[in-house]
This record gives sequence, structure tokens and C-alpha cells, in this order.
Amino acid sequence: MKQGCIFCGIIAGAISSSKVYEDDQVVVINDINPKAKVHLLILPKRHIDSVSELRDLDEQLMGHMIFVAKKVADEQNLKGYKLLLNVNKEGGQVVFHIHMHLLGGGPIKLSEC
Ligand code: 5GP
Ligand code: ZN
Repeated sequence: MKQGCIFCGIIAGAISSSKVYEDDQVVVINDINPKAKVHLLILPKRHIDSVSELRDLDEQLMGHMIFVAKKVADEQNLKGYKLLLNVNKEGGQVVFHIHMHLLGGGPIKLSEC
């Protein structure tokens, strides 16, 4: 847990969110400002700033995030969707706790993601 991190606060339950899935490694929440009909965020429980900070030991976790995305998308009957990771400020990342966007269910405002 990193002090001052919004997503660590959500994972700890100190900041409210609309949670759709949780297991021992990740939490999935609805994005507060959705850019598609379905806009979920897959958050690892362990704080990692960004993809650029990944270490070898994170490989399993990142694979798990994709499998969770598939599971949640199947549960929501999404036939197609996009998975997106913004990396660093230059890549459009605003919240520096790794998260995967799952976007689907209709038109996607990708330029705003
Ligand atoms: P980024 O640009 O860092 O990849 O995406 C951050 C995402 O987090 C944005 O889509 C934004 O709407 C979402 N977000 C920021 N603060 C909160 C929050 O407090 N709760 C939820 N549920 N989503 C948030
Ligand atoms: Zn964090």
C-alpha cells in the first residue's frame, strides 16, 4: 500500500468504489468516468507504479489480470472489448498504480482513455 494512492485507498476500502470482482490478487471496479458503456479497471492489490516499473516477479500477476478481464467480460456477455494499459504520463497514465482498462459494450472514446 502506498500512502496517497487513490487505488490503494479503494483496495483498502478507505475510498468507496463500485466493485465487480475481487480475488486474492486483484480488484475490478467500475471507472468513475466511463469512456464506454462498460468501462472497468482491473487493479492489482499490490501497488506497482506503472508497467515501466515491472519486475520479473510481476509476470504472473500481469497474466492473471488478463485472465480476470476475460472472466469478467464473459460474465457481462461482452462479445468484444478492448484492454488498455496507459504507461507513464507520456502514455496518458494519470493514476500511478497499474491498472488495465476493460472497455466494451458499444462505442469507445479511446482518445479520452
Ligand atoms: P489512466 O489515465 O491513469 O490510465 O486512467 C485512470 C482512470 O481512473 C480514469 O479512467 C479515471 O476515470 C479513473 N479514476 C480516477 N479516479 C478514480 C476513482 O476515484 N474511482 C474510480 N472508480 N475510478 C477513478
Ligand atoms: Zn497504489
